[in-house]
Amino acid sequence: MKMNITCIPGDGIGPEIVTQAKKVLDKVCEVYGHEITYKDVLMGGCSIDAFGVPLTDETIEAAKSADAVLMGSIGGNTSTSPWYKLEPSKRPEAGLLGIRKALGLFANLRPAYLYPQLKEACPLKEAAAEKGFDMLIMRELTGGLYFGERYTREIEGEITACDTLIYKESEIRRIAVKAFEVARKRRKSVISVDKANVLDSSRLWRKVVNEVSEDYPDVKLEHMLVDNCAMQLVRDPAQFDVVLTENMFGDILSDEASMITGSIGMLPSASLANGSFGLYEPSHGSAPDIAGKDIANPIATVLSAAMMLRYSFNLDKEADAIEGAVRKVLEEGYRTVDLLGSAEGSSFKRVGCKEMGDLLVERIAVV
Ligand code: NAD
Repeated sequence: MKMNITCIPGDGIGPEIVTQAKKVLDKVCEVYGHEITYKDVLMGGCSIDAFGVPLTDETIEAAKSADAVLMGSIGGNTSTSPWYKLEPSKRPEAGLLGIRKALGLFANLRPAYLYPQLKEACPLKEAAAEKGFDMLIMRELTGGLYFGERYTREIEGEITACDTLIYKESEIRRIAVKAFEVARKRRKSVISVDKANVLDSSRLWRKVVNEVSEDYPDVKLEHMLVDNCAMQLVRDPAQFDVVLTENMFGDILSDEASMITGSIGMLPSASLANGSFGLYEPSHGSAPDIAGKDIANPIATVLSAAMMLRYSFNLDKEADAIEGAVRKVLEEGYRTVDLLGSAEGSSFKRVGCKEMGDLLVERIAVV
């Protein structure tokens, strides 16, 4: 297969971690007989420095003309970087919002998987950590409370603020379809999360998800209220496979789910548009505090590249090979500094960003 990828290395540790992900992808292509080409473009702080704006039309065009986009991370130190003296619409993060909109990305996928080798980092009770978990939160990205009409004005002598939670049937339907499709690549279970006991938007959400589920009789569907889901995530996370939810609930639940894995440097993400197009990036930020020191953990970005193979190119075996390589390096005791925590000085082998990339490349094999 021929893959045409636009890369946005971004700021801080972004260029270091994207370099490692490209190395791993190159090895996968060599082993499995694919062809991959990359085009690197600027976005975020580096684009402000070069062009005065965080996102240029050229970057949007390069992203649109690719089969998929692989990103590092954008942004700088929000207290000290001159980028944050600019007005909000000119700051690095405006580039991210702009590109998501330009590319029509409406479904955000964040897996939360507890590696058995890292279970000490899980803040849950031992029994829950011992059982492990492997879930994927699918959050709607373009509708709901964050995009509804809002105002702050004086009404009857009192300042009053209002936000509107609005969803159209078509917005719910397209993400529900994605959730069932993704579930078919996993353990075939969807838990749809809403607040249907109170909210009209949630009652419509539930009705449309039920309708879509009729086309997927092989996938089990359950509904769960969001307050219960927040509790269940810390009580028994093993019960979840695909968790489908609207924008704000997903924002909160996906952070909760990532927290219980205990390791920010391990968490990939994908944002999908209609068809097979997607933008893939680690869940963490640009970590300006450790940029350029060759100590960042590249695994979240490498796993984002695996998601790209799985969801944009349908290359499941190749994605499995990357995920297998990650498990192997952890089993063999290699750790970047963020994974060592209190285990520093123990039998683990401390490695830098580049060395972790090399170790992963060496462990890519046919599965
Ligand atoms: P962060 O995720 O960059 O860093 C939080 C902490 O985790 C830091 O101590 C950092 O060193 C560590 N860390 C993060 N990723 C790591 C990795 N791969 N390996 C080892 N350690 C890692 O969050 P922050 O400090 O709040 O934000 C820094 C910048 O990143 C800000 O400008 C923020 O706006 C931006 N940001 C960008 C994105 C994105 O591009 N999607 C997402 C989140 C934050």
